[in-house]
Amino acid sequence: MKFRRLVSVLAAAGAAVMIATGPAAAFAPPYDDLPTGPYPQPADVDVPKRGCAATLSDPTNATGSIPAIQVIYAWHDGGGNNYAAHVEKIAKIVDRMDWALDESTNYDQHINFSCRSGYDTSTYSGYAQALVVPEKIENGVIGGKTLTGVVAADLAAAGYDVPNRRYLVFEDFNGTAEAMYDTLANGGTGSGIGVAVSGGWGGNMLHELLHLGHADYVDHSKVTETPDVLSYPDVMSNPSFDWQLDHNFNNYYDPSETTATFYTDNYSDTRKVNVATWPFFTTPTCCDVGYSNDLLTAQERTIEAEAPYGYPSGFGTSGGGWMQVTPPGPDAATSARYYDGRRSLTMNVQSHADGFVSVTRKPAVTAGQRYKFWAWLTTSTSGNIRLRLSWYNSSNTLLSTSDSSLYGLTSSWAEYSVSAVAPANAASVQLSVMSPSGQTFAYQLDALQLNHCNNGKTTDGCRLPG
Ligand SMILES: [Zn+2]
Repeated sequence: MKFRRLVSVLAAAGAAVMIATGPAAAFAPPYDDLPTGPYPQPADVDVPKRGCAATLSDPTNATGSIPAIQVIYAWHDGGGNNYAAHVEKIAKIVDRMDWALDESTNYDQHINFSCRSGYDTSTYSGYAQALVVPEKIENGVIGGKTLTGVVAADLAAAGYDVPNRRYLVFEDFNGTAEAMYDTLANGGTGSGIGVAVSGGWGGNMLHELLHLGHADYVDHSKVTETPDVLSYPDVMSNPSFDWQLDHNFNNYYDPSETTATFYTDNYSDTRKVNVATWPFFTTPTCCDVGYSNDLLTAQERTIEAEAPYGYPSGFGTSGGGWMQVTPPGPDAATSARYYDGRRSLTMNVQSHADGFVSVTRKPAVTAGQRYKFWAWLTTSTSGNIRLRLSWYNSSNTLLSTSDSSLYGLTSSWAEYSVSAVAPANAASVQLSVMSPSGQTFAYQLDALQLNHCNNGKTTDGCRLPG
């Protein structure tokens, strides 16, 4: 059997491994497997009630309804039906998933949930019962692991096979945390349904749901703009700890530029995605207060528009050096081929003068407020750079510059940053990487970001590094 499975990194790390219980023992869902970061999370009582985006008298008959997520409580005879005991907690986790999506960025965006009619949704109990539908998995394995294909086949047979639904399944038994499109092409039973399942009821429910944000799936092997960087606050890399979605707007989720797309898996896979456009979510609208924001365009962040050796649109150089889209080379040096961010910018530094590579466009800023410029850099040799913020007034006259400390680049990609308050009369800012004169080397630049540090979510008003 070759289902195209997406096993959670939780499972890979062992954290989501379900212990098989004896036939008579009830499975105990790990309720408390909820992320606590990357910024302070509200108590259950303070999590907003998302509510129902669509309400149907029969949730298996959703033809003509808007695209929406159907939440399922799945059980079998091994542990019995504990729906009444769990339903409100499941609804609260679902509400928290919606809150996490909205709070991840300064865009307003929510999950469309499907509900069934017949319950008083003005009470939380009634809302929870409308939102969460119980389903017995007839072929569930008592005393062993019930595979996701068995769950998908059961749901489809019960009528949960509507194309405008994705199924978010809280398993009350030993299963696998994963997401799957149950198609013949994927080696499945052919029901075609998209299911996100887990017996760990926490951050991995959102993690698995996001895997379904593409017509096939969204992988997480590419969840980095730069190679070998996976340990940062993101629900796709650390679902036990962090609710955050793609804080750099450059891997799979960019609500600020919904025409931008990002590779969803490693080379040679060429599928691209922007989960912010998933029709099972509401359309993202700017602006509210949220954890991440970014003032750059996708091209300015990712340098993906031109082919290797080409001239990176949106950038310019001055002084000692010339730039190109990084030519083919070792994967670790090029941010290329085998990772998302398959292209990067190479600056070929010349010694006769300070060299600058700059984002041509100057994003608007507000005087007196703090901004932070991040970028990822590496070199195959060695050399020093600074990051620079150049502040301009409304007449496009340079007012002042704010430089980072001098950074010695290494053969590993690393994130560097500079943060400063926009001076009086500042109206725009230009981002540059400066290489002091006297050096001859080449460096690679990728994953740029400019944050407006007013989001109120982190200590310094900007996202945490990494
Ligand atoms: Zn996963």
